[in-house]
Amino acid sequence: KEAVSKNFIEQIIEKDLAEGAYDKICTRFPPEPNGYLHIGHAKSILLNYGLAQEYRGQFNMRFDDTNPTKEKSEFVESIKNDIQWLGADWGDHLYFASDYFELMYEAALKLIRKGKAFVCDLSAEEIREYRGTLTEPGRESPYRNRSVEENLDLFQRMKAGEFPDGSKVLRAKIDMASPNINMRDPVIYRVAHMYHQNTGNAWCIYPMYDFAHPIEDAVEGVTHSICTLEFEDHRPLYDWVVRELEYPHPPKQIEFAKLYLTNVVTGKRYIKKLVEDGVVDGWDDPRLVSIAALRRRGFTPESIKLFVDLCGVSKANSSVDYAMLEYCIREDLKLKKSRVMAVLNPIRLVIDNYPEGQTEELEAPNNLENESLGSRRIPFSRELYIEREDFMEEPPRKYFRLFPGNEVRLMNAYFVKCTGFEKDEDGNVTVVHCIYDPASRGGNSPDGRKVKGTIHWVSAAHAIPVECRLYENLIDEEKGVYNEDGSMNINPDSLTVLKNCYVEPNLAGARAYDSFQFVRNGFFCVDAKDSRPEALVFNRIVSLKSSFKL
Ligand code: ATP
Ligand code: MG
Ligand code: MG
Repeated sequence: KEAVSKNFIEQIIEKDLAEGAYDKICTRFPPEPNGYLHIGHAKSILLNYGLAQEYRGQFNMRFDDTNPTKEKSEFVESIKNDIQWLGADWGDHLYFASDYFELMYEAALKLIRKGKAFVCDLSAEEIREYRGTLTEPGRESPYRNRSVEENLDLFQRMKAGEFPDGSKVLRAKIDMASPNINMRDPVIYRVAHMYHQNTGNAWCIYPMYDFAHPIEDAVEGVTHSICTLEFEDHRPLYDWVVRELEYPHPPKQIEFAKLYLTNVVTGKRYIKKLVEDGVVDGWDDPRLVSIAALRRRGFTPESIKLFVDLCGVSKANSSVDYAMLEYCIREDLKLKKSRVMAVLNPIRLVIDNYPEGQTEELEAPNNLENESLGSRRIPFSRELYIEREDFMEEPPRKYFRLFPGNEVRLMNAYFVKCTGFEKDEDGNVTVVHCIYDPASRGGNSPDGRKVKGTIHWVSAAHAIPVECRLYENLIDEEKGVYNEDGSMNINPDSLTVLKNCYVEPNLAGARAYDSFQFVRNGFFCVDAKDSRPEALVFNRIVSLKSSFKL
Protein backbone atom coordinates (compact mmCIF):
# COMPACT_ATOMS: atom_id res chain seq x y z
CA LYS A 1 0.00 0.00 0.00
CA GLU A 2 1.34 3.42 -0.88
CA ALA A 3 2.18 5.51 2.15
CA VAL A 4 0.57 8.61 0.66
CA SER A 5 -2.92 7.28 0.15
CA LYS A 6 -4.26 6.67 3.62
CA ASN A 7 -7.99 6.16 3.45
CA PHE A 8 -10.32 8.38 5.43
CA ILE A 9 -10.70 5.85 8.23
CA GLU A 10 -6.94 5.56 8.65
CA GLN A 11 -6.81 9.34 8.79
CA ILE A 12 -9.38 9.43 11.58
CA ILE A 13 -7.52 6.74 13.52
CA GLU A 14 -4.16 8.45 13.13
CA LYS A 15 -5.61 11.70 14.35
CA ASP A 16 -7.23 9.98 17.35
CA LEU A 17 -3.97 8.26 18.26
CA ALA A 18 -1.95 11.44 17.81
CA GLU A 19 -4.35 13.39 20.03
CA GLY A 20 -4.37 10.65 22.62
CA ALA A 21 -8.11 10.02 22.34
CA TYR A 22 -7.30 6.31 22.59
CA ASP A 23 -4.07 4.54 23.57
CA LYS A 24 -4.80 1.52 21.46
CA ILE A 25 -7.45 0.97 18.86
CA CYS A 26 -10.01 -1.81 18.86
CA THR A 27 -12.21 -2.75 15.89
CA ARG A 28 -14.81 -5.45 15.50
CA PHE A 29 -16.75 -7.41 12.94
CA PRO A 30 -20.34 -7.82 14.14
CA PRO A 31 -22.36 -10.15 11.88
CA GLU A 32 -25.88 -11.22 12.66
CA PRO A 33 -25.83 -15.02 12.50
CA ASN A 34 -28.73 -15.11 10.05
CA GLY A 35 -27.03 -16.26 6.86
CA TYR A 36 -23.73 -16.94 5.17
CA LEU A 37 -21.16 -14.20 4.69
CA HIS A 38 -20.60 -12.73 1.25
CA ILE A 39 -17.92 -10.69 -0.52
CA GLY A 40 -19.29 -7.48 1.01
CA HIS A 41 -18.74 -8.89 4.48
CA ALA A 42 -15.22 -9.88 3.43
CA LYS A 43 -14.57 -6.23 2.80
CA SER A 44 -15.75 -5.32 6.29
CA ILE A 45 -13.79 -8.18 7.89
CA LEU A 46 -10.54 -7.40 6.12
CA LEU A 47 -10.97 -3.69 6.72
CA ASN A 48 -11.52 -4.09 10.46
CA TYR A 49 -8.89 -6.77 10.86
CA GLY A 50 -6.42 -4.88 8.66
CA LEU A 51 -6.79 -1.68 10.69
CA ALA A 52 -6.22 -3.56 13.94
CA GLN A 53 -3.06 -5.08 12.44
CA GLU A 54 -1.83 -1.82 10.97
CA TYR A 55 -2.15 0.08 14.25
CA ARG A 56 -1.24 -2.84 16.55
CA GLY A 57 -4.69 -2.82 18.01
CA GLN A 58 -7.28 -5.46 18.78
CA PHE A 59 -9.81 -7.11 16.49
CA ASN A 60 -12.99 -8.51 18.03
CA MET A 61 -15.26 -11.08 16.51
CA ARG A 62 -18.76 -10.47 17.82
CA PHE A 63 -21.96 -12.19 16.91
CA ASP A 64 -24.68 -9.60 16.97
CA ASP A 65 -27.29 -12.07 18.07
CA THR A 66 -29.79 -9.87 19.87
CA ASN A 67 -32.67 -10.66 17.53
CA PRO A 68 -34.17 -14.05 18.42
CA THR A 69 -36.40 -14.34 15.34
CA LYS A 70 -33.89 -14.88 12.58
CA GLU A 71 -30.80 -16.40 14.09
CA LYS A 72 -29.60 -19.93 13.72
CA SER A 73 -26.61 -21.60 15.31
CA GLU A 74 -25.63 -23.29 12.00
CA PHE A 75 -24.62 -19.84 10.76
CA VAL A 76 -22.36 -19.22 13.74
CA GLU A 77 -20.08 -22.05 12.65
CA SER A 78 -20.08 -21.12 8.97
CA ILE A 79 -19.30 -17.50 9.78
CA LYS A 80 -16.39 -18.43 12.03
CA ASN A 81 -15.04 -20.77 9.41
CA ASP A 82 -15.25 -18.13 6.67
CA ILE A 83 -13.51 -15.50 8.77
CA GLN A 84 -10.71 -17.88 9.69
CA TRP A 85 -10.32 -18.84 6.06
CA LEU A 86 -9.95 -15.17 5.16
CA GLY A 87 -7.13 -15.00 7.68
CA ALA A 88 -8.70 -12.60 10.16
CA ASP A 89 -7.58 -13.85 13.55
CA TRP A 90 -9.63 -12.72 16.53
CA GLY A 91 -7.40 -14.52 19.05
CA ASP A 92 -9.24 -14.66 22.40
CA HIS A 93 -11.71 -11.99 21.38
CA LEU A 94 -14.82 -13.90 20.42
CA TYR A 95 -18.03 -12.42 21.81
CA PHE A 96 -21.77 -12.86 21.65
CA ALA A 97 -23.96 -9.79 22.08
CA SER A 98 -26.56 -11.95 23.81
CA ASP A 99 -24.08 -12.45 26.66
CA TYR A 100 -24.65 -8.78 27.45
CA PHE A 101 -28.43 -9.02 27.92
CA GLU A 102 -28.18 -8.54 31.69
CA LEU A 103 -25.86 -5.60 31.25
CA MET A 104 -28.14 -4.05 28.64
CA TYR A 105 -31.07 -4.44 30.99
CA GLU A 106 -29.09 -2.63 33.69
CA ALA A 107 -28.26 0.09 31.17
CA ALA A 108 -31.96 0.51 30.40
CA LEU A 109 -32.70 0.83 34.14
CA LYS A 110 -30.02 3.50 34.35
CA LEU A 111 -31.70 5.51 31.58
CA ILE A 112 -35.06 5.19 33.30
CA ARG A 113 -33.57 6.42 36.58
CA LYS A 114 -32.07 9.38 34.78
CA GLY A 115 -35.49 10.19 33.35
CA LYS A 116 -34.20 9.34 29.87
CA ALA A 117 -36.43 6.41 29.05
CA PHE A 118 -40.10 5.56 29.51
CA VAL A 119 -42.45 2.65 29.06
CA CYS A 120 -44.93 3.33 26.27
CA ASP A 121 -48.24 1.55 25.67
CA LEU A 122 -48.83 2.81 22.15
CA SER A 123 -49.10 0.11 19.52
CA ALA A 124 -46.41 -0.22 16.84
CA GLU A 125 -48.77 1.44 14.39
CA GLU A 126 -49.52 4.32 16.72
CA ILE A 127 -45.85 4.86 17.39
CA ARG A 128 -45.25 5.09 13.66
CA GLU A 129 -48.09 7.54 13.30
CA TYR A 130 -46.90 9.73 16.19
CA ARG A 131 -43.38 9.73 14.86
CA GLY A 132 -44.16 12.28 12.15
CA THR A 133 -42.37 12.60 8.84
CA LEU A 134 -39.34 14.33 7.40
CA THR A 135 -41.33 17.51 7.00
CA GLU A 136 -43.56 17.23 10.06
CA PRO A 137 -42.41 16.97 13.67
CA GLY A 138 -43.60 14.04 15.73
CA ARG A 139 -46.07 14.13 18.59
CA GLU A 140 -45.24 13.12 22.13
CA SER A 141 -46.58 9.87 23.43
CA PRO A 142 -49.28 10.28 26.14
CA TYR A 143 -47.11 7.92 28.26
CA ARG A 144 -43.98 10.07 27.95
CA ASN A 145 -44.35 11.69 31.34
CA ARG A 146 -44.74 8.61 33.46
CA SER A 147 -42.77 8.86 36.70
CA VAL A 148 -39.43 7.14 37.16
CA GLU A 149 -41.03 4.83 39.75
CA GLU A 150 -43.83 3.81 37.41
CA ASN A 151 -41.38 3.24 34.55
CA LEU A 152 -39.09 1.13 36.74
CA ASP A 153 -42.03 -0.93 37.90
CA LEU A 154 -43.45 -1.45 34.41
CA PHE A 155 -40.11 -2.26 32.84
CA GLN A 156 -39.33 -4.82 35.55
CA ARG A 157 -42.75 -6.38 34.93
CA MET A 158 -42.07 -6.41 31.19
CA LYS A 159 -38.98 -8.43 31.98
CA ALA A 160 -40.93 -10.69 34.35
CA GLY A 161 -43.22 -11.66 31.50
CA GLU A 162 -46.39 -9.96 32.68
CA PHE A 163 -47.21 -8.36 29.33
CA PRO A 164 -47.92 -9.89 25.95
CA ASP A 165 -45.82 -9.20 22.84
CA GLY A 166 -46.39 -5.77 21.37
CA SER A 167 -48.29 -4.41 24.36
CA LYS A 168 -45.48 -2.28 25.77
CA VAL A 169 -42.09 -0.99 24.73
CA LEU A 170 -39.33 0.98 26.39
CA ARG A 171 -38.47 4.18 24.54
CA ALA A 172 -35.60 6.59 24.88
CA LYS A 173 -36.84 10.07 25.79
CA ILE A 174 -35.03 12.35 23.36
CA ASP A 175 -36.77 14.83 21.10
CA MET A 176 -39.98 14.37 19.13
CA ALA A 177 -39.20 17.51 17.16
CA SER A 178 -35.73 16.41 16.07
CA PRO A 179 -35.13 16.73 12.32
CA ASN A 180 -33.61 13.24 12.60
CA ILE A 181 -36.49 10.78 12.91
CA ASN A 182 -34.23 8.26 14.64
CA MET A 183 -34.06 10.68 17.57
CA ARG A 184 -37.83 10.90 18.05
CA ASP A 185 -38.09 8.77 21.16
CA PRO A 186 -36.85 5.57 19.52
CA VAL A 187 -37.93 2.19 20.84
CA ILE A 188 -35.05 0.55 22.71
CA TYR A 189 -36.69 -2.57 24.18
CA ARG A 190 -39.62 -4.68 23.06
CA VAL A 191 -41.53 -7.60 24.56
CA ALA A 192 -41.06 -10.84 22.62
CA HIS A 193 -41.84 -14.16 24.22
CA MET A 194 -39.39 -16.05 22.10
CA TYR A 195 -36.75 -18.69 22.42
CA HIS A 196 -33.21 -17.42 21.82
CA GLN A 197 -30.52 -19.75 20.53
CA ASN A 198 -28.03 -18.67 23.20
CA THR A 199 -30.13 -17.60 26.17
CA GLY A 200 -33.07 -19.94 25.69
CA ASN A 201 -36.19 -18.72 27.48
CA ALA A 202 -34.34 -16.56 30.00
CA TRP A 203 -35.57 -13.36 28.39
CA CYS A 204 -38.87 -12.14 27.03
CA ILE A 205 -37.69 -8.60 26.38
CA TYR A 206 -35.07 -7.90 23.76
CA PRO A 207 -33.07 -4.73 23.04
CA MET A 208 -33.27 -2.98 19.68
CA TYR A 209 -30.19 -2.70 17.48
CA ASP A 210 -29.68 1.04 17.98
CA PHE A 211 -29.57 0.61 21.73
CA ALA A 212 -27.68 -2.68 21.84
CA HIS A 213 -24.93 -1.96 19.36
CA PRO A 214 -23.28 1.02 21.08
CA ILE A 215 -23.40 -0.85 24.39
CA GLU A 216 -21.74 -3.89 22.83
CA ASP A 217 -19.01 -1.67 21.41
CA ALA A 218 -18.53 0.24 24.65
CA VAL A 219 -18.29 -2.77 26.96
CA GLU A 220 -15.76 -4.45 24.69
CA GLY A 221 -13.62 -1.34 24.51
CA VAL A 222 -14.13 -0.94 20.79
CA THR A 223 -12.75 2.42 19.74
CA HIS A 224 -13.74 2.65 16.07
CA SER A 225 -17.06 1.04 15.24
CA ILE A 226 -17.07 0.79 11.47
CA CYS A 227 -20.37 0.23 9.73
CA THR A 228 -21.99 0.92 6.39
CA LEU A 229 -23.56 4.16 5.17
CA GLU A 230 -27.16 3.36 5.96
CA PHE A 231 -26.30 3.83 9.63
CA GLU A 232 -25.11 7.39 9.18
CA ASP A 233 -28.50 8.75 10.31
CA HIS A 234 -28.32 6.51 13.36
CA ARG A 235 -25.03 7.95 14.57
CA PRO A 236 -26.64 10.70 16.70
CA LEU A 237 -28.55 7.99 18.53
CA TYR A 238 -25.39 5.88 18.91
CA ASP A 239 -23.66 8.89 20.43
CA TRP A 240 -26.65 9.65 22.65
CA VAL A 241 -26.62 6.10 24.07
CA VAL A 242 -22.90 6.09 24.91
CA ARG A 243 -23.13 9.58 26.36
CA GLU A 244 -26.19 8.95 28.53
CA LEU A 245 -24.73 5.68 29.79
CA GLU A 246 -21.55 7.60 30.69
CA TYR A 247 -18.99 5.19 29.32
CA PRO A 248 -15.51 6.50 30.15
CA HIS A 249 -14.04 5.79 26.68
CA PRO A 250 -16.92 6.18 24.26
CA PRO A 251 -16.50 4.35 20.97
CA LYS A 252 -17.04 6.26 17.75
CA GLN A 253 -19.07 5.12 14.78
CA ILE A 254 -17.60 5.59 11.30
CA GLU A 255 -19.54 4.78 8.13
CA PHE A 256 -18.22 3.64 4.75
CA ALA A 257 -19.90 2.64 1.51
CA LYS A 258 -21.03 -0.95 0.99
CA LEU A 259 -19.30 -2.99 -1.62
CA TYR A 260 -21.49 -3.81 -4.58
CA LEU A 261 -20.45 -5.94 -7.54
CA THR A 262 -21.91 -5.89 -11.02
CA ASN A 263 -23.55 -8.98 -12.51
CA VAL A 264 -23.73 -10.93 -9.29
CA VAL A 265 -26.13 -11.16 -6.40
CA THR A 266 -24.97 -9.67 -3.10
CA GLY A 267 -27.25 -9.28 -0.14
CA LYS A 268 -28.23 -12.14 2.08
CA ARG A 269 -31.91 -11.80 1.29
CA TYR A 270 -31.45 -12.23 -2.45
CA ILE A 271 -29.00 -15.08 -2.14
CA LYS A 272 -31.37 -16.79 0.25
CA LYS A 273 -34.19 -16.55 -2.26
CA LEU A 274 -32.07 -18.09 -5.02
CA VAL A 275 -31.17 -20.94 -2.67
CA GLU A 276 -34.76 -21.47 -1.56
CA ASP A 277 -36.06 -21.36 -5.13
CA GLY A 278 -33.52 -23.99 -6.16
CA VAL A 279 -32.02 -21.69 -8.79
CA VAL A 280 -28.63 -22.46 -7.31
CA ASP A 281 -27.17 -25.50 -5.59
CA GLY A 282 -27.01 -24.12 -2.03
CA TRP A 283 -25.25 -21.20 -0.38
CA ASP A 284 -21.94 -22.37 -1.77
CA ASP A 285 -22.99 -22.62 -5.41
CA PRO A 286 -19.90 -21.43 -7.31
CA ARG A 287 -21.94 -18.80 -9.17
CA LEU A 288 -22.64 -16.94 -5.94
CA VAL A 289 -20.35 -14.54 -4.15
CA SER A 290 -20.85 -15.86 -0.66
CA ILE A 291 -17.46 -16.59 0.89
CA ALA A 292 -18.31 -20.29 0.85
CA ALA A 293 -19.13 -20.10 -2.86
CA LEU A 294 -15.98 -18.18 -3.73
CA ARG A 295 -13.91 -20.72 -1.82
CA ARG A 296 -15.64 -23.61 -3.59
CA ARG A 297 -15.15 -21.94 -6.95
CA GLY A 298 -11.42 -21.74 -6.23
CA PHE A 299 -10.88 -18.17 -5.11
CA THR A 300 -8.12 -17.74 -2.53
CA PRO A 301 -8.00 -15.52 0.56
CA GLU A 302 -5.10 -13.67 -1.09
CA SER A 303 -7.18 -12.86 -4.16
CA ILE A 304 -10.02 -11.52 -2.05
CA LYS A 305 -7.62 -9.45 -0.01
CA LEU A 306 -6.14 -7.98 -3.19
CA PHE A 307 -9.63 -7.24 -4.47
CA VAL A 308 -10.71 -5.49 -1.30
CA ASP A 309 -7.52 -3.44 -1.30
CA LEU A 310 -8.06 -2.39 -4.90
CA CYS A 311 -11.65 -1.39 -4.14
CA GLY A 312 -10.48 0.98 -1.43
CA VAL A 313 -12.65 2.52 1.25
CA SER A 314 -14.99 5.34 0.41
CA LYS A 315 -18.05 7.28 1.48
CA ALA A 316 -19.78 7.03 -1.89
CA ASN A 317 -21.79 4.03 -3.01
CA SER A 318 -20.66 2.48 -6.26
CA SER A 319 -20.52 -0.86 -8.02
CA VAL A 320 -17.29 -2.65 -8.78
CA ASP A 321 -16.94 -4.61 -11.99
CA TYR A 322 -16.94 -8.37 -11.40
CA ALA A 323 -14.05 -8.51 -13.88
CA MET A 324 -11.87 -6.90 -11.24
CA LEU A 325 -12.41 -9.87 -8.94
CA GLU A 326 -11.44 -12.14 -11.83
CA TYR A 327 -8.33 -10.07 -12.42
CA CYS A 328 -7.37 -10.58 -8.77
CA ILE A 329 -7.63 -14.35 -8.83
CA ARG A 330 -5.63 -14.57 -12.07
CA GLU A 331 -2.97 -12.37 -10.51
CA ASP A 332 -2.83 -14.59 -7.46
CA LEU A 333 -2.72 -17.92 -9.28
CA LYS A 334 -0.67 -17.25 -12.37
CA LEU A 335 2.72 -17.80 -10.78
CA LYS A 336 1.61 -20.24 -8.11
CA LYS A 337 -0.08 -22.97 -10.10
CA SER A 338 1.08 -25.62 -12.52
CA ARG A 339 -0.03 -25.32 -16.11
CA VAL A 340 -1.35 -28.69 -17.08
CA MET A 341 -3.06 -30.10 -20.14
CA ALA A 342 -6.77 -30.82 -20.09
CA VAL A 343 -9.04 -31.34 -23.06
CA LEU A 344 -12.56 -30.12 -22.43
CA ASN A 345 -14.26 -31.03 -25.69
CA PRO A 346 -12.30 -33.99 -27.00
CA ILE A 347 -11.75 -35.40 -30.46
CA ARG A 348 -9.40 -38.30 -31.16
CA LEU A 349 -6.09 -37.65 -32.92
CA VAL A 350 -4.30 -40.73 -34.31
CA ILE A 351 -0.62 -40.46 -35.24
CA ASP A 352 -0.45 -43.07 -37.98
CA ASN A 353 3.35 -43.31 -38.13
CA TYR A 354 3.80 -43.64 -34.35
CA PRO A 355 4.47 -47.25 -33.31
CA GLU A 356 1.40 -48.98 -31.95
CA GLY A 357 1.65 -49.93 -28.27
CA GLN A 358 4.57 -47.58 -27.63
CA THR A 359 4.53 -45.04 -24.81
CA GLU A 360 7.15 -42.46 -23.99
CA GLU A 361 7.39 -39.79 -21.35
CA LEU A 362 7.95 -36.17 -22.23
CA GLU A 363 9.22 -33.50 -19.90
CA ALA A 364 7.14 -30.37 -19.45
CA PRO A 365 7.87 -27.26 -17.37
CA ASN A 366 5.15 -26.62 -14.78
CA ASN A 367 5.10 -22.87 -15.16
CA LEU A 368 7.12 -21.00 -17.75
CA GLU A 369 7.10 -17.83 -15.65
CA ASN A 370 8.05 -19.55 -12.42
CA GLU A 371 10.86 -22.07 -12.78
CA SER A 372 10.74 -22.93 -9.11
CA LEU A 373 7.61 -24.99 -9.79
CA GLY A 374 9.86 -27.47 -11.62
CA SER A 375 8.73 -29.84 -14.31
CA ARG A 376 6.78 -33.03 -14.73
CA ARG A 377 6.62 -35.99 -17.07
CA ILE A 378 3.66 -36.61 -19.34
CA PRO A 379 2.94 -39.85 -21.20
CA PHE A 380 2.67 -39.69 -24.97
CA SER A 381 1.37 -42.38 -27.30
CA ARG A 382 -0.16 -43.04 -30.71
CA GLU A 383 -3.68 -41.92 -29.83
CA LEU A 384 -4.37 -38.60 -28.21
CA TYR A 385 -7.29 -36.34 -27.42
CA ILE A 386 -7.20 -32.77 -28.66
CA GLU A 387 -9.82 -30.03 -28.46
CA ARG A 388 -12.48 -30.38 -31.12
CA GLU A 389 -12.03 -26.71 -31.98
CA ASP A 390 -8.37 -27.35 -32.79
CA PHE A 391 -9.31 -29.15 -35.99
CA MET A 392 -11.25 -27.73 -38.93
CA GLU A 393 -12.07 -29.43 -42.16
CA GLU A 394 -12.28 -26.09 -43.96
CA PRO A 395 -10.34 -23.49 -42.00
CA PRO A 396 -11.12 -19.81 -42.17
CA ARG A 397 -8.31 -17.34 -42.81
CA LYS A 398 -5.78 -17.06 -40.01
CA TYR A 399 -6.66 -20.46 -38.56
CA PHE A 400 -3.30 -21.96 -37.68
CA ARG A 401 -4.38 -25.14 -35.99
CA LEU A 402 -5.03 -28.54 -37.56
CA PHE A 403 -6.59 -28.88 -41.00
CA PRO A 404 -5.74 -31.23 -43.82
CA GLY A 405 -2.15 -30.60 -44.93
CA ASN A 406 -1.27 -28.26 -42.05
CA GLU A 407 1.47 -28.87 -39.51
CA VAL A 408 1.23 -27.81 -35.84
CA ARG A 409 3.13 -28.32 -32.65
CA LEU A 410 1.76 -30.62 -29.98
CA MET A 411 2.73 -28.72 -26.86
CA ASN A 412 5.89 -30.12 -25.21
CA ALA A 413 5.87 -32.97 -27.75
CA TYR A 414 6.26 -33.16 -31.53
CA PHE A 415 5.29 -31.52 -34.81
CA VAL A 416 2.37 -33.32 -36.43
CA LYS A 417 0.93 -32.85 -39.89
CA CYS A 418 -2.74 -33.52 -40.58
CA THR A 419 -3.25 -36.20 -43.21
CA GLY A 420 -6.98 -36.84 -43.07
CA PHE A 421 -10.05 -37.39 -40.91
CA GLU A 422 -13.08 -39.65 -40.45
CA LYS A 423 -16.74 -38.75 -40.08
CA ASP A 424 -19.81 -40.56 -38.77
CA GLU A 425 -23.14 -40.87 -40.67
CA ASP A 426 -24.23 -37.48 -39.37
CA GLY A 427 -21.17 -35.80 -40.79
CA ASN A 428 -19.47 -35.20 -37.45
CA VAL A 429 -15.72 -35.56 -37.44
CA THR A 430 -14.81 -38.49 -35.17
CA VAL A 431 -11.09 -39.00 -35.75
CA VAL A 432 -8.30 -36.82 -37.08
CA HIS A 433 -5.27 -38.50 -38.64
CA CYS A 434 -1.75 -37.15 -38.73
CA ILE A 435 1.89 -38.12 -38.99
CA TYR A 436 4.59 -36.91 -36.65
CA ASP A 437 8.19 -35.85 -37.18
CA PRO A 438 10.32 -37.92 -34.74
CA ALA A 439 13.10 -35.34 -35.03
CA SER A 440 10.92 -32.61 -33.50
CA ARG A 441 10.78 -34.17 -30.04
CA GLY A 442 10.34 -31.48 -27.36
CA GLY A 443 8.52 -29.23 -29.81
CA ASN A 444 11.20 -27.92 -32.17
CA SER A 445 12.44 -29.16 -35.50
CA PRO A 446 16.24 -29.39 -36.03
CA ASP A 447 15.85 -28.06 -39.59
CA GLY A 448 14.49 -24.77 -38.18
CA ARG A 449 11.06 -25.33 -39.73
CA LYS A 450 8.42 -23.11 -38.11
CA VAL A 451 4.80 -23.85 -37.32
CA LYS A 452 2.27 -21.22 -36.35
CA GLY A 453 -0.05 -23.25 -34.16
CA THR A 454 0.58 -25.01 -30.86
CA ILE A 455 -2.17 -27.16 -29.44
CA HIS A 456 -2.51 -29.12 -26.23
CA TRP A 457 -3.36 -32.79 -25.94
CA VAL A 458 -3.59 -35.76 -23.60
CA SER A 459 -2.70 -39.36 -24.26
CA ALA A 460 -5.97 -41.26 -24.75
CA ALA A 461 -4.75 -44.38 -22.98
CA HIS A 462 -3.44 -42.48 -19.98
CA ALA A 463 -5.78 -39.52 -19.59
CA ILE A 464 -8.26 -39.34 -16.72
CA PRO A 465 -11.89 -38.68 -17.61
CA VAL A 466 -13.28 -35.82 -15.52
CA GLU A 467 -16.21 -33.44 -15.37
CA CYS A 468 -15.68 -29.71 -15.82
CA ARG A 469 -18.14 -27.00 -14.91
CA LEU A 470 -17.96 -23.67 -16.66
CA TYR A 471 -19.63 -20.59 -15.27
CA GLU A 472 -20.92 -17.31 -16.53
CA ASN A 473 -22.37 -14.53 -14.43
CA LEU A 474 -25.71 -15.37 -12.87
CA ILE A 475 -27.10 -12.01 -13.88
CA ASP A 476 -26.34 -9.94 -16.95
CA GLU A 477 -26.95 -6.36 -15.92
CA GLU A 478 -26.99 -5.12 -19.48
CA LYS A 479 -29.98 -7.34 -20.11
CA GLY A 480 -31.67 -6.17 -16.93
CA VAL A 481 -31.49 -7.57 -13.43
CA TYR A 482 -35.23 -8.13 -13.12
CA ASN A 483 -37.94 -9.54 -15.35
CA GLU A 484 -41.27 -7.79 -15.78
CA ASP A 485 -42.84 -9.94 -13.07
CA GLY A 486 -40.14 -8.85 -10.59
CA SER A 487 -38.26 -12.15 -10.62
CA MET A 488 -34.54 -12.14 -11.27
CA ASN A 489 -33.39 -12.39 -14.85
CA ILE A 490 -31.11 -15.39 -14.49
CA ASN A 491 -28.58 -16.03 -17.26
CA PRO A 492 -29.61 -19.42 -18.73
CA ASP A 493 -25.96 -20.12 -19.57
CA SER A 494 -24.65 -19.43 -16.10
CA LEU A 495 -23.64 -23.10 -15.76
CA THR A 496 -22.32 -25.45 -18.45
CA VAL A 497 -21.50 -29.00 -17.38
CA LEU A 498 -18.97 -30.83 -19.56
CA LYS A 499 -19.06 -34.52 -18.65
CA ASN A 500 -16.56 -35.80 -21.18
CA CYS A 501 -13.29 -34.04 -20.43
CA TYR A 502 -9.81 -35.54 -20.10
CA VAL A 503 -6.90 -34.40 -17.99
CA GLU A 504 -3.31 -35.57 -17.95
CA PRO A 505 -2.65 -38.41 -15.46
CA ASN A 506 -0.61 -36.16 -13.20
CA LEU A 507 -3.90 -34.87 -11.84
CA ALA A 508 -4.86 -38.24 -10.35
CA GLY A 509 -5.18 -37.74 -6.61
CA ALA A 510 -6.11 -34.08 -6.89
CA ARG A 511 -8.07 -33.11 -3.81
CA ALA A 512 -10.78 -30.62 -2.94
CA TYR A 513 -9.64 -27.01 -3.48
CA ASP A 514 -6.50 -28.02 -5.45
CA SER A 515 -6.22 -25.72 -8.41
CA PHE A 516 -4.40 -25.70 -11.72
CA GLN A 517 -4.09 -23.73 -14.86
CA PHE A 518 -5.50 -25.80 -17.71
CA VAL A 519 -3.53 -24.43 -20.64
CA ARG A 520 -5.64 -22.21 -22.87
CA ASN A 521 -8.82 -23.06 -20.92
CA GLY A 522 -8.43 -21.18 -17.68
CA PHE A 523 -7.87 -21.81 -13.99
CA PHE A 524 -9.73 -24.76 -12.51
CA CYS A 525 -10.31 -25.99 -8.98
CA VAL A 526 -11.37 -29.39 -7.67
CA ASP A 527 -14.97 -29.06 -6.48
CA ALA A 528 -15.22 -29.63 -2.75
CA LYS A 529 -18.78 -30.91 -2.79
CA ASP A 530 -19.15 -33.22 -5.77
CA SER A 531 -15.64 -34.38 -6.69
CA ARG A 532 -14.63 -37.96 -5.83
CA PRO A 533 -11.14 -39.47 -6.16
CA GLU A 534 -12.44 -41.78 -8.88
CA ALA A 535 -14.62 -39.14 -10.55
CA LEU A 536 -12.97 -35.75 -10.37
CA VAL A 537 -15.06 -32.63 -10.85
CA PHE A 538 -13.42 -29.30 -11.67
CA ASN A 539 -14.88 -25.80 -11.45
CA ARG A 540 -13.57 -23.19 -13.81
CA ILE A 541 -12.50 -20.37 -11.52
CA VAL A 542 -11.82 -17.96 -14.34
CA SER A 543 -10.81 -17.99 -17.99
CA LEU A 544 -7.37 -16.79 -18.99
CA LYS A 545 -8.32 -13.88 -21.14
CA SER A 546 -9.64 -10.63 -19.86
CA SER A 547 -10.47 -7.27 -21.22
CA PHE A 548 -10.11 -5.90 -17.71
CA LYS A 549 -7.33 -3.38 -17.27
CA LEU A 550 -6.29 -1.92 -13.97
P1 ATP B 1 -26.91 -8.08 4.16
O1 ATP B 1 -27.51 -6.73 3.87
O2 ATP B 1 -26.18 -8.69 3.02
O3 ATP B 1 -27.86 -9.00 4.84
P2 ATP B 1 -26.02 -7.22 6.67
O4 ATP B 1 -25.53 -5.82 6.75
O5 ATP B 1 -27.40 -7.47 7.13
O6 ATP B 1 -25.78 -7.78 5.21
P3 ATP B 1 -24.69 -8.11 9.00
O7 ATP B 1 -24.46 -9.49 9.45
O8 ATP B 1 -25.65 -7.29 9.74
O9 ATP B 1 -25.09 -8.19 7.47
O10 ATP B 1 -23.35 -7.30 8.80
C1 ATP B 1 -22.10 -7.55 9.38
C2 ATP B 1 -21.18 -6.43 8.96
O11 ATP B 1 -20.88 -6.51 7.57
C3 ATP B 1 -21.79 -5.07 9.19
O12 ATP B 1 -20.84 -4.26 9.85
C4 ATP B 1 -22.11 -4.56 7.81
O13 ATP B 1 -22.06 -3.19 7.73
C5 ATP B 1 -21.04 -5.25 6.95
N1 ATP B 1 -21.48 -5.42 5.57
C6 ATP B 1 -22.59 -6.05 5.14
N2 ATP B 1 -22.71 -5.98 3.81
C7 ATP B 1 -21.64 -5.27 3.36
C8 ATP B 1 -21.19 -4.84 2.08
N3 ATP B 1 -21.88 -5.11 0.97
N4 ATP B 1 -20.04 -4.14 2.00
C9 ATP B 1 -19.34 -3.87 3.11
N5 ATP B 1 -19.70 -4.23 4.35
C10 ATP B 1 -20.84 -4.92 4.50
MG1 MG C 1 -28.47 -8.51 8.46
MG1 MG D 1 -28.22 -5.49 8.02
